[in-house]
Amino acid sequence: MADFAFTGPEPDLADLLAARPAFAMHAQDGLCFEDVPLNAIADQYGTPVWVYGAGSMQARYAALQAAFKAQNLDVHIHYAVKANDHIAILDIFRQLGAGADVVSLGELLRARRAGIAAKDVVYSGVGKAEAEIEAALAQGIGQFNVESTEELDMLSALATRTGTTAKVVLRMNPDVDAGTHAKITTGLAENKFGIAAADIPALYARATALPGIAMRGLALHIGSQILSPEPYATAYAKAAAMVRLLRAQGMTVTVLDLGGGIGIGYHDEPGMNLAAFAAVVKREVGGLGVDLLMEPGRYLVGPAGLLLASVVLQKQAAKRFVVLDAAMNELMRPALYEAWHGILPVNAALFHGIASPADIVGPVCESADCFAKDRELPDLGPGERVALLDAGAYGAVMSSSYNARPRAASVLVSDGQFRLITPRQRLEDLWADEVLP
Ligand SMILES: *Cc1c(COP(=O)(O)O)cnc(C)c1O
Repeated sequence: MADFAFTGPEPDLADLLAARPAFAMHAQDGLCFEDVPLNAIADQYGTPVWVYGAGSMQARYAALQAAFKAQNLDVHIHYAVKANDHIAILDIFRQLGAGADVVSLGELLRARRAGIAAKDVVYSGVGKAEAEIEAALAQGIGQFNVESTEELDMLSALATRTGTTAKVVLRMNPDVDAGTHAKITTGLAENKFGIAAADIPALYARATALPGIAMRGLALHIGSQILSPEPYATAYAKAAAMVRLLRAQGMTVTVLDLGGGIGIGYHDEPGMNLAAFAAVVKREVGGLGVDLLMEPGRYLVGPAGLLLASVVLQKQAAKRFVVLDAAMNELMRPALYEAWHGILPVNAALFHGIASPADIVGPVCESADCFAKDRELPDLGPGERVALLDAGAYGAVMSSSYNARPRAASVLVSDGQFRLITPRQRLEDLWADEVLP
């Protein structure tokens, strides 16, 4: 079940807060995140502003590691850069010992800029361009997750031409329904991702003989925002069977990349049960004698970020509309995936105020520019601030300047302090690179 399919009763403000220990409501200071009043951040840097918490990221990373450790598993974590590619965030995961999973040369260079060694980077994606592959080879990237026979041949040719060797795993499409939103499922045969299981043995054998290619193993990634260990169990069982089959055919398999996709609770439900997930990993692939790696994105950063916005005005029409200064060009998930994000008022007095339904919208000229429909919220007058929760993953990375809206600022909270990590884009920056013919 994904966030869009949540069937429980809609959580009220107190439920939302209770499910998020990094947040607290103080009578004077209002809503605080990792002990920092959000009002202090908005006063200093304005809104809309992304707020990220280093402590939350560290705690989530530690929880995932602890779950693996409890199963006596050694799983190397490669943070999926596409979830949030800010170099300050990459730097936090580097310090924790993570590698990176990238899907473009831009992401590889971001990871390098944050000090992540090229050998600790795996490169996924169905359409790596020649120039990107060449650059990745030159950097000495740790692993290519190859998604087609065509890509394999291109990689072999480029590695040979440049006198390098590409370490390769084949991304197997396990044809498993991850039970998530159609736009974020990737492990079905009908999806563009990966190589059909039936085609893996022949391709693996051919790859082993190709120049410039060092075959290492298999990868899979079945989708995103997965809340149950079940689809993983099915997919990993198929991967284990494939490893055994390849070995029976004389092939060497030393790496299994378990992909990402661990889901989080966007309402007040728990996210993936990490203990149950790690137990599945142990049961299905723990005895294979391969190096295990994993590529989580959303799980690590989603709840560690929020979008702080101000109310422009409250419009009473056929229904109540609360118009924010943030819009779909900042946080696109509601428009793109019908995603549900919790919304908390920052002002403590409002938190306990009488709630009534309202549509929370942005100022962009699209009906899809709506963060929440019929949400029970108190009266929110102009200038009141709200926090859009769990916006750390697939938030800022998907933002645009549609409607000529400058990119929002971002702030990192760490040890009770906050620092600007992205200045708000200036209006004149919007057209700075444009040329009048
Ligand atoms: C997007 C992606 C991930 C990360 O997915 P999350 O749901 O954010 O954990 C990992 N691996 C690959 C190949 C991806 O495309």
